[in-house]
Amino acid sequence: MDAVGPCFRHGRITQEFLDKHTEPWLRSEVSKKAAAARWAKKPRGSDLPLCVLCDSEARVADGGKLVICRQCGQYRLVEGLAAELTKESDWPELQSDLARAVRWRFYQGEPVTLSNVTSARWLVEKLKEFEEDPEERERQAVDALVSTGPVENPWDRPIANLGGALGLPSDESRAFAEKLQAGNIVRIVDCKPSWTALDTQPLSPRLKEWVRGE
Ligand SMILES: [Zn+2]
Repeated sequence: MDAVGPCFRHGRITQEFLDKHTEPWLRSEVSKKAAAARWAKKPRGSDLPLCVLCDSEARVADGGKLVICRQCGQYRLVEGLAAELTKESDWPELQSDLARAVRWRFYQGEPVTLSNVTSARWLVEKLKEFEEDPEERERQAVDALVSTGPVENPWDRPIANLGGALGLPSDESRAFAEKLQAGNIVRIVDCKPSWTALDTQPLSPRLKEWVRGE
């Protein structure tokens, strides 16, 4: 496998590279080695300069138990679990699943505490159930948008509510809403001001709201 050479020389193996150049069986072997190599390079002790789940730079607090990662959001990790997780035979796959699961919960407003391997795997199962049901995800997204009601800016609070429902950061929530809008599953309409609103707040801005498409 000549193709593996350059990447090893640069000391870095990207997922893109693996997808392009290696057979599935080799890919899992190579990524296991890469994960082990990355882990071996990490300084040990109470400080975790890299997020164990996604290898991004992370800040830690609370004696190293709280990890604040740009990619994963925030999560708690009991002492010793990081080392235990990396010893799992399917760690490269588990690692990326866990990173997604932790991020999902963080953006749902429920940051997780990883306390043992079993609960970490349970969390991954929950995420997979969620990911395997796109219709349910869409239903929750539509509900979140529609139930927000009249607002000045339909791309503000309704999008935050969608993000909370689906566990997505704001840019991805917005993209999700745009896709629903493009498919005419939802649309933004001007609210008709009621007489009461006109009487009491003549200068209030025209409100908009998300409604289901026709
Ligand atoms: Zn991370």
